[in-house]
Amino acid sequence: MIKFLDLKKNTERHSEEITDAVNSVVSSGQYILGAEVENFERKFAEYIGTGFCVGCANGLDAIYLILKAYIELGKLTPGDEVIVPANTYIATIIAVIQAGLTPVPVEPDPETLQISPQKIKEAISNKTKALLIVHLYGRCAYSQEIAALCDKNNLLLIEDNAQAHGCKFSEQRTGSIGNAAAHSFYPGKNLGALGDGGAVTTNDGELARIVRALANYGSSAKYVFDYIGRNSRLDEMQAAILSVKLPYLDEENAGRMEIAAIYNNGIRNPLITIPSEAPREQNVYHIFPVFTPYREELKKYLEDNGVQTLIHYPIPPHKQKCMPQWSGMSLPVTENIHRTELSLPISPVLTTDEARKIVELINNWQVKE
Ligand SMILES: *Cc1c(COP(=O)(O)O)cnc(C)c1O
Repeated sequence: MIKFLDLKKNTERHSEEITDAVNSVVSSGQYILGAEVENFERKFAEYIGTGFCVGCANGLDAIYLILKAYIELGKLTPGDEVIVPANTYIATIIAVIQAGLTPVPVEPDPETLQISPQKIKEAISNKTKALLIVHLYGRCAYSQEIAALCDKNNLLLIEDNAQAHGCKFSEQRTGSIGNAAAHSFYPGKNLGALGDGGAVTTNDGELARIVRALANYGSSAKYVFDYIGRNSRLDEMQAAILSVKLPYLDEENAGRMEIAAIYNNGIRNPLITIPSEAPREQNVYHIFPVFTPYREELKKYLEDNGVQTLIHYPIPPHKQKCMPQWSGMSLPVTENIHRTELSLPISPVLTTDEARKIVELINNWQVKE
């Protein structure tokens, strides 16, 4: 069986270094907010290219903490509208709602699957105060058009970089482009911990200071509380593991790009559409999506032939039970993506031979009437 993502195999590649790092935390006696978190924050800020990085518990919290910090700074006010991609993973939207803000879904460009600048323009109202872009599937969602829209309308630009660690827009890494960025280190992400983890990166020192306080009950100094915060800390064990894995991220992303090139160059089946290719380095292929109206048939065919696939995602956010306020919306591009998308295996431990086998299977696939 070719797994969608063989996490065990991926961890085994680093097992010796990880074991050493974990043992060193075990014997340090310091398990929360110690040297490992500080060290990882410094390295990750350097990697992303920002002045500041603040670790937190997960990606959902990272987005929430940025928004809440902007509220504390007076740059956002509860009830303000925040534009989000309609086809994002729902955590993006949950964070906006939990911060007391109003998410406004905007459809993607069907070619790139990323939020459409043209449709952002149509969605901007006098209540719109921030644009939360998501580099979905590992592909850069930023563009000069988006920059111009933010400038013109005085919008904060926030990046959800959960799926795009290492991705670049010209010389800049995603996560350093907007006013602030949220990262998730969920095990399956391009840079994954062996548990939950997250971070905020920014060049805004004041914002970083408030995010840090909010992630630690709102504490600005020991036993001094300036805000009503939450407990959302990256722990020492996960920080130590992330420091082991960070130096391999570029090499692992290069492996993903190699697999993607095999898919992009090899898949030729009239029943299947693959997205247009992004400019070089603007896609780190967290996910390799293909589209077919016969998704269930393709999924079963690949499974019968020993290939595991997943769907990202089967139900769009506006059709979820938790979003009754959006249930009447018509978002046809998003609905079509969720109806026809299938994610092929892609990871640093998938071999090129496996990828070629998958291409061959896909090219031989037919739908029986
Ligand atoms: C994974 C993910 C999140 C949430 O990250 P967690 O660490 O699981 O909370 C947010 N946004 C996107 C786009 C994601 O893929």
